[in-house]
Amino acid sequence: SKQVYARTKPHLNIGTMGHVDHGKTTLTAAITKVLSERGATRYVAFDRIDRAPEEARRGITINVAHVEYETDTRHYAHVDMPGHADYVKNMITGAAQLDGAILVVSALDGIMPQTAEHVLLARQVGVDHIVVALNKADGADDELTDLVELEVRELLTAHGYGGDAVPVVRVSGLRALEGDPRWTASVEALLDAVDTYVPVPVRYVEAPFLLPVESVLTITGRGTVVTGAVERGTVRVGDRVMVHGPDTETVVTGVETFGRPMESAQAGDNVALLLRGVPRGAVRRGHVVAAPGTLVPRRRFTARVYVLSTREGGRATPITTGYRPQFYLRTADVVGTVDLGPTTPTARPGDTLTMTVELGRDLPLEPGLGFAIREGGRTVGAGTVTEVL
Ligand code: GDP
Ligand code: MG
Repeated sequence: SKQVYARTKPHLNIGTMGHVDHGKTTLTAAITKVLSERGATRYVAFDRIDRAPEEARRGITINVAHVEYETDTRHYAHVDMPGHADYVKNMITGAAQLDGAILVVSALDGIMPQTAEHVLLARQVGVDHIVVALNKADGADDELTDLVELEVRELLTAHGYGGDAVPVVRVSGLRALEGDPRWTASVEALLDAVDTYVPVPVRYVEAPFLLPVESVLTITGRGTVVTGAVERGTVRVGDRVMVHGPDTETVVTGVETFGRPMESAQAGDNVALLLRGVPRGAVRRGHVVAAPGTLVPRRRFTARVYVLSTREGGRATPITTGYRPQFYLRTADVVGTVDLGPTTPTARPGDTLTMTVELGRDLPLEPGLGFAIREGGRTVGAGTVTEVL
């Protein structure tokens, strides 16, 4: 029988970000390799991470690889994504709920456009702690690396990360993967920095259970399985839950994490829930599983919104009342109509404003909920719900 997941250490969600080819996937593989030699972690090879599962939904393909590992003090779920567009989608939609991030910057190349965009994105979605891996240090000379380090600290400071205090560790994912002792030690130093610098976040374990559905699988003979990160509360086998979307009440008949059954899952855990009697096709990404009677789905709200500047990849022209983009709330994407009110007829790229939104369908909404606004496959705004109407 399967080994049961034992919660012996705090769990954190982390991920690599940074410009394409700076070594995110190599470093992810190297971390599992280095930790596998210390014990509980299973080594995951580069190829297994880079061929991340593709999830196609309504013409949008989302790629994320989830890898797990354990240091002496913590259990981590780590996400790595193949392309820049995957970062934008997964981070802003909340599919990648990061408690902290490892910013991978090639010491040979320095800051590149996606390096800066990921830092901006991290700030927007509320990632409060970043640790820097100055990668490819095996091939870079010290003076050049010093300059890159300065440049990265300045970038972080410019985005409110207090760049002087951020740990910057010189590593070589490639050499560590090859077993070179010096660079293996560099990856260990990076992990120590993550362990000490990224705090265990406050989890809303006491709140009513809520899980935004990331993906759905059907296991023949067992039923429908939904996966995702528990946003708040706890859930255990036998609990009654409401599935918002099909609006069906059901019972949880299995709880697993990374293929291992667990007695109880809690806020922050990445889990799979087996749901009794929910027909195939009734549950989709974007639906929400929650404690019964705790959520009232609605479609109108006011929000504080930042319209991305043209330089950040946003629109070239203003938005006006009647604008109908896609709204990404938790894992859902829904069309919505914007009302800017009588005083501000238009909002230009770079503006921050209050707006009223009417969604095309009801969703569980609450003040403080973050969301992204997208059109034509790109992000044009980021906002927070201020009031549900
Ligand atoms: P990603 O796009 O950020 O995931 O980058 P990859 O991990 O796919 O690496 C891109 C390229 O950089 C590959 O050819 C790697 O072998 C190489 N690379 C990655 N890490 C290092 C490193 O530490 N040193 C050197 N010299 N090359 C590296
Ligand atoms: Mg990669």
